[in-house]
Amino acid sequence: MASIPFHIPSIPKPQDTYNFLIDNSNSLFLHPSLPKSPDGLGRPIHPAEAYDPVSFAHYHLPASLGPIKPPLMESTPFKLVDDVAGLHYLATKLALAPEFAVDLEHNGYRSFQGLTCLMQISTRTEDFVVDTLKVRASVGEFLGKFFLDPSKKKVMHGAINDIIWLQRDFGIYVVNLFDTMQASRVMRLERNSLAFLLKYFCGVDANKEYQCSDWRLRPLPSDMVKYAREDTHYLLYIYDVMRKELVSGSKQLGFEDPLGEVCKRSHEVCLRMYKKEVFDKETSYLFMHGLGDADNLDAKQLAIVAGLFEWRDRVAREEDESTGYILPNKQLLEIAKKKPLKARELLDLVGYSRTLVLRDVDQIVEILWAAICVHAPNFEKVAKDLNSGVPISEIGAKIQEMKKMDQEHEKKLAFIDHQQESEASKRKGMALLALLPQPSTPVNQLCRRRLPIRRPPLTDTTVTISPSFKLSWLSVEKM
Ligand code: AMP
Ligand code: ZN
Ligand code: MN
Repeated sequence: MASIPFHIPSIPKPQDTYNFLIDNSNSLFLHPSLPKSPDGLGRPIHPAEAYDPVSFAHYHLPASLGPIKPPLMESTPFKLVDDVAGLHYLATKLALAPEFAVDLEHNGYRSFQGLTCLMQISTRTEDFVVDTLKVRASVGEFLGKFFLDPSKKKVMHGAINDIIWLQRDFGIYVVNLFDTMQASRVMRLERNSLAFLLKYFCGVDANKEYQCSDWRLRPLPSDMVKYAREDTHYLLYIYDVMRKELVSGSKQLGFEDPLGEVCKRSHEVCLRMYKKEVFDKETSYLFMHGLGDADNLDAKQLAIVAGLFEWRDRVAREEDESTGYILPNKQLLEIAKKKPLKARELLDLVGYSRTLVLRDVDQIVEILWAAICVHAPNFEKVAKDLNSGVPISEIGAKIQEMKKMDQEHEKKLAFIDHQQESEASKRKGMALLALLPQPSTPVNQLCRRRLPIRRPPLTDTTVTISPSFKLSWLSVEKM
């Protein structure tokens, strides 16, 4: 069978087909099922925090228990789980298993936050592939408790992403993990990939052809199912062998307790928490991949990058698409460099298959005009810093600091406004518009609402501004 491309545009979006509940708002992911810290900060507390990972290393495993060879794939019972009855069946199996192997397949291209497409689980005797697109809403309810159970060992390979995906899509948190990639590192094996471990420990030549396929494809072709099963089928055996070598080879490996070390490192992996991408109008564009390598962008070009970045983030959240699907960074930078100021020029540059660019092309052209004609002066300083090699994180931090100061100014203003309004009502009738000081500030600076521009000092001789004047003043400022 020919390999499956990483994107098949004709697949209907599963989030539409199955009506996923997805919150793409620019707000924190709250980990709703977790208890929160009592310190007033409301930090979600990961269930694994309650455990000492070293306690997972040695208990419950009889030292004499040697590696258990995996059964042949062909003679291993297999179940594709794509309904609630299947999940229930799998749950009865996991309830009896002291350890199980897990892997996920994922698609990050056709949704904003990413979608887990498959969950593979192998016990000592059976393989399961869960269609997590179809039964997404029930996965946590049926399987979550086994992942939480500290007496059940979860074996995964390179679980850093999987841990995050489990939290995000199913509210599943992992306690007691053995990550074979962490073990491979502690054991200082030649390479740490799963393909290498499969060859090294099991003599299996893994077919990695499908690693980057579009895993949203249904029905799943049998080759993809086979590939998915291979990712967990041998893991418990690999875990057995590794555990044995970790215990016997403590001295050579340079760790007091190599198995404990693997458990500690795996525990760190478990404790990672999913965070939704936060968009900040003033700084997010600075951290765009590729911006640092783009040579000498000037203020206009940076203004374009920032404008397009904001448009792209908004559309990605609204349409539930990845930013890369909407407009890849490389093309975004191309636009900034070439500044196409007509719809036709823009589309010629990015191609007509960028459907959301096509949809919003007039709006994007307006964004480009505004960037060049209005916003560019605000980017002079950043452009100068960037081009003189100031680290992006430093520039970002500076902008954040200024923003914070601005916000504090705003707060003070609001406070003074409040006080002044009550003063004003006391001294009704004293306001005389003609006596008000005229702003001497250039019009282009009126956009920035800063304390000294807007507010004459509050002395006894100051004439109080009437509410109606304030309104018209504000509307001038906002122009
Ligand atoms: P794995 O842990 O190898 O099963 O990979 C899990 C998921 O990570 C895959 O379904 C892909 O979505 C993604 N992935 C893994 N390797 C790559 C890669 N080299 N390039 C892009 N995506 C990858
Ligand atoms: Zn994986
Ligand atoms: Mn996999």
